[in-house]
Amino acid sequence: MKVVKFGGSSLASGKQVEKVFQIVMSDPERKVVVVSAPGKRFSEDQKVTDLLIECADLCLQDRDPQEKVEAVMKRYSSIALELGLPDKVVSEIYHDLQERINGDKSKPDRFIDRLKASGEDNNAKLVAAYFQTQGVEAHYVDPKEAGLLVSNEPGNAQVLPEAYEQLYLLNNRSGILIFPGFFGYSKEGDVYTFSRSGSDITGSILANALKADLYENFTDVDAVYSVNPYIVQKPKEIKELTYREMRELSYAGFTVLHDEALVPAFRAGIPVQIKNTNNPSAPGTKIVYQRDNTNGPVIGIASDNGFCSIYVSKYLMNREIGFGRKLLGILEEYGMSYEHTPSGIDDVSVILRENQFDLELENEIKWRIETELHADEVRIEHSLALIMVVGEGMRQNVGTMARAAKALGKAKVNIEMINQGSSEVSMMFGVKEVDEKRAVQALYEEFFAAVPV
Ligand code: ASP
Repeated sequence: MKVVKFGGSSLASGKQVEKVFQIVMSDPERKVVVVSAPGKRFSEDQKVTDLLIECADLCLQDRDPQEKVEAVMKRYSSIALELGLPDKVVSEIYHDLQERINGDKSKPDRFIDRLKASGEDNNAKLVAAYFQTQGVEAHYVDPKEAGLLVSNEPGNAQVLPEAYEQLYLLNNRSGILIFPGFFGYSKEGDVYTFSRSGSDITGSILANALKADLYENFTDVDAVYSVNPYIVQKPKEIKELTYREMRELSYAGFTVLHDEALVPAFRAGIPVQIKNTNNPSAPGTKIVYQRDNTNGPVIGIASDNGFCSIYVSKYLMNREIGFGRKLLGILEEYGMSYEHTPSGIDDVSVILRENQFDLELENEIKWRIETELHADEVRIEHSLALIMVVGEGMRQNVGTMARAAKALGKAKVNIEMINQGSSEVSMMFGVKEVDEKRAVQALYEEFFAAVPV
């Protein structure tokens, strides 16, 4: 049995929903279908989820959300019209939306989640209705009734362990099950969404819970590419990746799959296949426990920007017990999360996402580190990009770091910091944001020999 997830662009129009139907029907093992809300039809288009967030914001400011409601409804009605669905399908979506808009606003975060979740919830109902009009036994599944229990963290929910046992029972149901992605219910019965793009997570949870043989994730690219195609023209497609490699790459900027989505599939040892709704015969990319290392040391290069580093140096830091804990403790007090901590004998850098800071907070933290930890120097550097060079093959190959550093040197990119992950499947380079593109191209050239844009 396969769990199949379709992303927003795969469901953005009636024509796309027809493709989804064909794909599902072409393989009798495709029994559980997880759907996103309708996404973008073209690059300037708006996703239904974004419209719903705007709508929720207007409601919370006591402003008229009508324009946004109409924009959302227009998306569903045009899909329904293209598919020849009965009017009832659209009017039910309208009523559902109105009900949510008129609901309790005393907890704004929860109100936003309820509206956000309607994008996938209503789309799942629409898709199920379409399958039924085609004479197929298909059922919309309500995540509440199916038991998809999540933590009560608005916009950032996590599945609760007890959800799995209950969800397993979906195996007993007949027909094709159309399950909305992106949200679940707390024990108290309230809607909470995962973080953005979280329908990938729903698919992975269901694959684990139902003990599927495969989790297929349909999107709009033929495969996972070895580097961002906006940075290098026609990059190499990746045929097979390990979970660890994919996790590292998606964490560092590969948006094909949500970076938290692999965990449930990984725990149950279920392979994940990335495929293209618009070209389903392309083999796609398979994510597995182990792969043959036939590609050389590096499988992919990812980069992301918007980071800063707090550099702290203190003579004899290496002998001071608890220095790291105290430093990170200060950040914890401000609820800040950090990404990496490359360190030397007498210095350490803490890399964080820049958007957690404003100038006032930055000065306060700097002052606290200087005075409470008696640091010799505290320096905060902004506008950094992190580049991850990823590959299981690095463990067996000698000299990968030297090759990477040489390539960056040749491209005149100054390396601000280096961190070799303890797992030895990744190397991280911190560079200035202005050098990011050049650095990635140089690394790609070194490990894959391609033509930069
Ligand atoms: N529709 C949601 C979003 O845009 C979730 C998803 O598509 O996976 O983030």
